Amino acid sequence: MQLIDIHTHTSSTQKDVFSIENKYPSSTNFSKPFSIGIHPWYISENSLQNDLKIVKEQLSSQNCYAVGECGLDRITETDFSLQLEIFKQQIQLSEKYSKPLIIHCVKAFQEIIQLKKEMNPKQPWIIHGFNRKDQIALDLIRHQIFLSFGEGLLKNERLQETFSKLPLGFLFLETDASEEHIENIYNIASELRKTEKQEIINIVKQNFSRIFKR
Ligand SMILES: [Zn+2]
Repeated sequence: MQLIDIHTHTSSTQKDVFSIENKYPSSTNFSKPFSIGIHPWYISENSLQNDLKIVKEQLSSQNCYAVGECGLDRITETDFSLQLEIFKQQIQLSEKYSKPLIIHCVKAFQEIIQLKKEMNPKQPWIIHGFNRKDQIALDLIRHQIFLSFGEGLLKNERLQETFSKLPLGFLFLETDASEEHIENIYNIASELRKTEKQEIINIVKQNFSRIFKR
């Protein structure tokens, strides 16, 4: 019974958990499955070229599963047009290296959908840490964008409500930067869907194999 944690900032030692660890260009240990990207909070014009170079180098690694997290954030200080430019470059990398994209998005969902339409990527896109309302969730799914849910599911009632009625073909679960065990996220997911936990595990696994082809 292996639980997939699609996005985490901590290294799991548990045998029954498969996780994709989030790495930054400054990370040093790439020995486990990981994703790597330039986060909108940490775009620095001084190190940008070097950061992109490191991302590209790591993308050819067998352990690298995805590009990201990268994306758009309306409330961070980084200039929004610079964020857009760096995000687009990472979309292109995701296509070039055939790795799915893990997206950080704060108050910029329409821009994400717009970019999806414009760039028409072949690689799947996953919005991580999704915590917005039904309408946005359905809109993203309609555009074939995957949604990953984390600890918000444990306490955010509006999100629980949203989660309970979404189509599950676009679902992932994650721990992100929280201390929560991924098993608790699967438990609450199963409770909210009134479905056996094994069924949720199977659905996430199917979604995973479908997009990572492994
Ligand atoms: Zn994260």
